Amino acid sequence: RWCDVEDIIGVVLKQVKDYQQHRKIRVRLPEQMPLILGDEVLLEQVLVNVVSNSIKYSPDFSEIIIEAQVGGATVSLSVADAGIGLEETDGERIFDKFYRADQTKHVPGTGLGLAICKGIVELHGGTISAKPNPERGTIITISLPLNEAEEDWKTI
Ligand code: ATP
Ligand code: MG
Repeated sequence: RWCDVEDIIGVVLKQVKDYQQHRKIRVRLPEQMPLILGDEVLLEQVLVNVVSNSIKYSPDFSEIIIEAQVGGATVSLSVADAGIGLEETDGERIFDKFYRADQTKHVPGTGLGLAICKGIVELHGGTISAKPNPERGTIITISLPLNEAEEDWKTI
């Protein structure tokens, strides 16, 4: 099914509304946003998990930025927070099941969220990665392949 990334973000924002508390979530979208081929519910789950982490691992009143970009043959969705951040030793291990970084262990969790995200993103032929947010915090980027026809582009 063709999925509208803007709709997915809308559903996710509604889902996290009750526990985002005082964090400010900002969304940046490109003018032209293509539809992507995938399972809407699963992709919503990916974004809910990533945004929930940004909420869990960042302080009250900090800002979370969700940004969608279209480049070449991919759509990338990034979620940037100004939270606890990751250590170099965490690296790609955060995508392993049950892995939890030491500096976040005071916050309850199972360590499955990102492993599930990775599985779903890879099923869609995409990739998910983490990098430090230059000032403070973490940026998680999800890249999904664009495999649609020209007429599926939507102007917003
Ligand atoms: P849950 O299964 O409930 O999602 P979790 O949040 O601990 O538990 P994951 O979402 O898989 O598990 O994340 C794995 C680990 O990666 C986290 O425990 C945390 O150490 C680290 N992590 C993930 N996202 C962030 C983030 N935005 N900032 C800092 N650390 C993060
Ligand atoms: Mg999580």
